Amino acid sequence: MKYDFKSKSGFQEYFGRAHDMVRRAAKEFVDKEIVPYVDEWEEAGEFPRNLYKKAGDVDLLGIGYPEELGGTPGDIFFQIVAWEEIMRCGCGGIAAGLGSLHIALPAIVNRGTDEQKERYVKPVINGDKIAALAITEPGGGSDVAGLQTTAERQVDEYVVNGSKTFITSGCRADQITCAVRTGGPGPHGISLLVIESNSPGYSVSDKLKKTGWWSSDTGQIFFDNCRVPAVNLIGQENEGFYTIMENFQSERLQLAVMANMTSQIALEESIKYVKQREAFGKPLSGFQVMRHKIVDMATQLEVSREFTYRVAAKIDAGINQVKEISMAKNFACMVSDRVTYDAVQIFGGYGFMRGYPVERLFRDNRVLSIGGGTTEIMKEIISNHLFN
Ligand SMILES: Cc1cc2nc3c(=O)[nH]c(=O)nc-3n(C[C@H](O)[C@H](O)[C@H](O)COP(=O)(O)OP(=O)(O)OC[C@H]3O[C@@H](n4cnc5c(N)ncnc54)[C@H](O)[C@@H]3O)c2cc1C
Repeated sequence: MKYDFKSKSGFQEYFGRAHDMVRRAAKEFVDKEIVPYVDEWEEAGEFPRNLYKKAGDVDLLGIGYPEELGGTPGDIFFQIVAWEEIMRCGCGGIAAGLGSLHIALPAIVNRGTDEQKERYVKPVINGDKIAALAITEPGGGSDVAGLQTTAERQVDEYVVNGSKTFITSGCRADQITCAVRTGGPGPHGISLLVIESNSPGYSVSDKLKKTGWWSSDTGQIFFDNCRVPAVNLIGQENEGFYTIMENFQSERLQLAVMANMTSQIALEESIKYVKQREAFGKPLSGFQVMRHKIVDMATQLEVSREFTYRVAAKIDAGINQVKEISMAKNFACMVSDRVTYDAVQIFGGYGFMRGYPVERLFRDNRVLSIGGGTTEIMKEIISNHLFN
């Protein structure tokens, strides 16, 4: 049965046989093309560029996108299946890097012209090009309405000056969906441009070194009189802020799913470990305190995942979930913070050692409550809904 929010039974089924088929195909791809290489790519600080092409070739990148753009349309749970299975590799950096198109493309798909979609969506879904989203600036990320990178219209071009930082896939992106100031101060002066990385006046930093997500390319981008064709404006001039806010809903869902999968893998690893590791002559699972710790992990995860799915189903049904998706992201991150902390504790010294999955999950998890809007900004959004 498809989700029906008017149904008195409250019965919800989010995944059907078609979703299971996509899950199997995604799992096969991840097991073959990613899992064997994760440790090597993490140590190297990047995964090969041709992973995008390989993922594009098996239609993994285009799930949820319109068919005429090379995608495979479907409800929101097809995308969730893909995100979950990619996270199964146990590495947030690969999931974030390979998934940067999902924060870069929706604005073009929803607001772009046919020419923009042809030029900037199709090749990314195919895996031929890499797309990134560039909102955050060195001077601040939370206060999007205060951004300072300017784009001045000169005849049929915009001349862009300023910089962006912490951009996922930023160093090797072929195109960025970039927030710029085209008007006065505040949210009403912001527009979105697609900027190609080979534009004159465009340059990037070296990859930024991070606590986690090592294999994800995170970079700073500089614009020095960077010239961008005016036809690359997405939607209307000075109306970009609303598109950015719209875009955040899907990014926050993606991050909630990543947090839940982080908890899921940490939980599974912990259960395996307590059964096999012995102390004081018996397996760790023989200690009630250990079992209860794991019970708490599993319970919190179950609640978080169910709530995330429910919010996703409502988004899919066109119901406004701005408050709820902020709650889901915060809740999922609170759970993954606790679960990854406890998983490391359960592993003892090994939990602090490289090569153990929980060590990486613990590090990678930290950014989930910062990216896509911090915990505090989510609370601001929720409180605005509660008090206004
Ligand atoms: C690995 C990584 C990848 C990222 N990828 C991208 C990307 O692809 N594209 C992109 O555009 N950005 C990206 N970001 C940036 C990310 O979205 C920002 O870091 C985030 O929005 C916070 O902005 P900031 O770092 O400037 O912190 P600030 O905005 O300076 O905030 C600092 C602290 O102040 C708090 N704070 C700020 N305002 C308030 C308030 N009103 N009330 C209470 N507390 C407040 C914040 O919660 C935070 O704790 C990425 C960041 C990281 C670390």
